[in-house]
Amino acid sequence: MALREIHLLGSPVLRQTAAEIAVVDDETRTFIDDLFETMDAAEGVGLAANQVGVARRVAVIDADGQRFVMVNPRIAQASGRDKAEEGCLSIPEVYAEVTRASRITLEALDRDGQPFTMEAEGLVARAIQHELDHLDGILFLDHLSPLKRQVLVARYKREHRGEGLTRSVAPPSSTPS
Ligand code: ZN
Repeated sequence: MALREIHLLGSPVLRQTAAEIAVVDDETRTFIDDLFETMDAAEGVGLAANQVGVARRVAVIDADGQRFVMVNPRIAQASGRDKAEEGCLSIPEVYAEVTRASRITLEALDRDGQPFTMEAEGLVARAIQHELDHLDGILFLDHLSPLKRQVLVARYKREHRGEGLTRSVAPPSSTPS
């Protein structure tokens, strides 16, 4: 397993539509382990492959005690509306309220390539929709009004001027702080 660098707003891979995974093989599983490890180190509730520079349809979630990978995910059903604050590991320190479906039915493959169906609501449903967006090159900022998005992007660019388009995450510290 290895920690991956996280791509940040402005990195072109965040705007790519990720490709379906034809076969869930050992290489895919190693990559899934990397995604989990990187998400944990970054203390995120989800991480999509695009965010570590790989445009393939796989993302991991760890929200409300539910921890799983979704390969080639698809939302089969969605209902309800719910507004809540979101952030993104690729857009540090930016938060905004986003309206999404409150209940969804997810269809995806697991780490063995087996199909599964899952009902989700609350934070888990939100995280799934957020990560699935990433696989289609969509960021949570895209759900905001143009004006709100402009303000947040301008501020982000000002605060991160001169920084690179990727960031490293530190492994969990073994020394007490
Ligand atoms: Zn994100």
